Amino acid sequence: MLGGQPVRPQGPPSWPLPDDDVLAGLQQAFQSGQWGQYHGEFVERLEQRLAQYHHVSHVMLCASGTIAVEMALRGLRVGAGDEVLLAAYDYPGNFLTVHALGARPVLVDVAPENWNLDAGRLERAFTSQVRALIVSHLHGGLVDMTAVMDWAGSRGVVVVEDAAQCPGATIQGRRAGTWGDVGILSFGGSKLLSAGRGGAILTQRTDVYQRIRAWMNRGNWIAPLSPLQAAVLLPQLERLDERNAQREKNAQRLRQLVSDIPGLKPFRNRTEGTPGYYKMGWQFDAAEFGMARATMTAALRAEGIAFDEGFKALHQGRSPSRFRAAGPLTEAEKAHHGAVILHHPILLGDDDDLAQVAEAVRKVQTHAAVIRERCEMP
Ligand SMILES: *Cc1c(COP(=O)(O)O)cnc(C)c1O
Repeated sequence: MLGGQPVRPQGPPSWPLPDDDVLAGLQQAFQSGQWGQYHGEFVERLEQRLAQYHHVSHVMLCASGTIAVEMALRGLRVGAGDEVLLAAYDYPGNFLTVHALGARPVLVDVAPENWNLDAGRLERAFTSQVRALIVSHLHGGLVDMTAVMDWAGSRGVVVVEDAAQCPGATIQGRRAGTWGDVGILSFGGSKLLSAGRGGAILTQRTDVYQRIRAWMNRGNWIAPLSPLQAAVLLPQLERLDERNAQREKNAQRLRQLVSDIPGLKPFRNRTEGTPGYYKMGWQFDAAEFGMARATMTAALRAEGIAFDEGFKALHQGRSPSRFRAAGPLTEAEKAHHGAVILHHPILLGDDDDLAQVAEAVRKVQTHAAVIRERCEMP
């Protein structure tokens, strides 16, 4: 940023990885002709593999994680006049999907240690209008699903579990995406399982599955996943556990390497489990680190490390008529200003890659005064 040599001149690792077994999948799709067909056995095979892997009875592949959330809510008959709870710090598409159904988002504050949904705040958010809850595990955070499901059961609230950022994660001994009435995954081009686009709906509930199928089938399927996409996802699913373990090991190592740097604390989980790292989340303190968050992420990107600012909190920049806030959103406000995320591909790197991340963060922090002086508006 000041004109010197970046720590990582080659920049962040690219994604998706050039897997040989993905190439083999593409070749099979080509040789069988499925690459150009509406239907093909790769789709059924992937649905079966995902069902086995998650121990659920029904899986439906679809065009994106976002449409999967919409279908989950439709399948649960959420619609006009209903209230839907979600964390005030969440994927913005989830908020917009609630509106797309004519329902009203109710924003719940997040937990101080990982800025994911705080199950302890659900009861205060409840009214007789509340029909559903969307719960996402974000940036390596895990939500206490035992507490969520106990509460939801006590109030008759249906649960959509958004595992788009953590396929293969486990929470309290169970796979992410299998706790709620419906779970969803995303296969978008930057996600841990990538097919450029795509998503999946997971459920044990036959009634919900049938309703979603009926909605999606207008003689032709309206938002399908193609056999070609399924062909590249199948081999990635086989390697998911191994890669998640590698990412977790490297995330732990990275936490140690930067633990003495002021102003940057990793998300911590009180809930037992093994997270998924689409992004690795950090709590950034501008005063302690010595510069604004936007300056810090720009400086790290200039060093070749893929740090970014997190989501905007959902109540920020929106008219209060578009949602109901369930109490003060103090922690979501902190997340809005202080969430920093590291993109996942570097977490499959080696010790040298991790050392470079730590070196870059240290370098930027050490030069905070001069970076602030030259690069920040007065
Ligand atoms: C990416 C993402 C989605 C949506 O997935 P798409 O396939 O991009 O539509 C939903 N929820 C979360 C938490 C995500 O990160």
